[in-house]
Amino acid sequence: MAAIFKCKSVIGGSGLNLRFFSTSKQRLSQSYKIVVVGGGAGGCSVAAKFSSLLPKNHVAIVEPSDIHFYQPMWTMVGGGMKKLEQSGRPMGEVLPKNARWIKERASQFFPEENRLVTASGEEINYDYLVIAMGLQLDYNKIKGLPEAFNTPGVCSNYSTLYVGKTLESLKNFKEGNAIFTFPNTPVKCAGAPQKAMYISEQYLVKHNKRDKANVMFNTSLGVIFGVKKYADALEKVVKERNIAVNFQHELVEVKPDTKEAVFRLLDDPAGTTKTFKYEMLHVTPPMSSPAVLRANKQLTNKAGYVEVDRSTLQHVRFPNIFGIGDCTSLPTSKTAAAVAGQNKIVFDNLRLLMDGKKLSQKYDGYTSCPLVTGYSKCILAEFDYDGKPLETLPINQAKERMTSFFMKKELMPQLYWKLMLNGWWNGPSTIRKILHLGTGH
Ligand code: FAD
Repeated sequence: MAAIFKCKSVIGGSGLNLRFFSTSKQRLSQSYKIVVVGGGAGGCSVAAKFSSLLPKNHVAIVEPSDIHFYQPMWTMVGGGMKKLEQSGRPMGEVLPKNARWIKERASQFFPEENRLVTASGEEINYDYLVIAMGLQLDYNKIKGLPEAFNTPGVCSNYSTLYVGKTLESLKNFKEGNAIFTFPNTPVKCAGAPQKAMYISEQYLVKHNKRDKANVMFNTSLGVIFGVKKYADALEKVVKERNIAVNFQHELVEVKPDTKEAVFRLLDDPAGTTKTFKYEMLHVTPPMSSPAVLRANKQLTNKAGYVEVDRSTLQHVRFPNIFGIGDCTSLPTSKTAAAVAGQNKIVFDNLRLLMDGKKLSQKYDGYTSCPLVTGYSKCILAEFDYDGKPLETLPINQAKERMTSFFMKKELMPQLYWKLMLNGWWNGPSTIRKILHLGTGH
């Protein structure tokens, strides 16, 4: 027997149907003006902007998690400067009240039919879609790693499950190699693997264990950082602190029984591996766009990322779809700071599209990475698509500074929870223009 509930309302002349069809055979179906998939940094901030513009429940957010995490804080959690609990808030408290929260996982997209299906089989129709699903962590792609996490000394700031083990590993550190890895895939916050290392190294200094530790950064990359200005500064830091940097080293296996980590040497065509003993192993896992997205070739590029225009953030094949954040093809460093620079572009351009106007707002690739180098110092990298520094403060931000550290530790979390998630923070471009007397540089 069919039960149909239908309610109709009108926004600015355009009709909106919220329909709930339910039968024993039929699927449940709902329709919204805007559907946002993912309620993380990007999804929550964009949904907040639109739900203050549109009537109640005209925006829906599809998000399965109970807790919203401010992930940048995990660097501090790993170093014992913050507690994990401080990095999370109930999802229901951060998502905009004016929007409907569909506590579900999106499992299939049908962009030609303006609909998606959730894991429970619910059908969700939309006029406009914003995809903000972040990245998935592929720890299981490294042989032996899932098991190794159950043994001492193996940790990762990238997951709530293992971030607590970073401090534990430092506390238990006796002597040997402290190895920090960087995978052979794009990652969120490309500076975070190094931050874990610098803080750990300073922990060992503070606790008189540094002379017993051989600290090393084994990275799949061929450079320490992608922007020369900051790479130069970081090279100085590793040299001064006697940290070994091994380029083109990709972690492929962990052997917890013998406490060994196996690395493929990427610059060797024969695929030779090299094995290192570890006392502590901090793993940054390979990452990819969520499997649900990768499965949909219409939405994604060859690498599996939502294929959007790098300036307008509009999907290249489906004009009523926009993408924001880590899951997109945008060729910039994947950070919450980048998301802040993107959310107003999505908001403005989607509004223009809804009004039948030409999209005029352009994203410049702004991203930022506070490269914490210890318990009171930080290099504050900010740059655009071309790797050109876009520093907010009229000082040399490549220098290790206490002010940058304070901003990272205390100011940025407040900015995130209080302003960004409510749709009120669009990145520092206005502040930068004022501080640089209108030049924007
Ligand atoms: P997320 O915030 O990850 O949100 C994605 C959301 O999508 C999640 O809530 C998830 O549950 C949801 N989702 C996934 N699959 C589905 C599905 N099938 N259906 C529905 N919903 C789904 N950034 C900085 O700016 N500065 C830093 O210092 C910094 N440091 C970092 C340190 C660490 C250790 C980590 C892990 C990250 C750091 N970042 C930093 C990066 C930053 O957290 C991310 O870039 C940012 O959260 C990306 O936002 P997003 O909305 O794209 O993805």
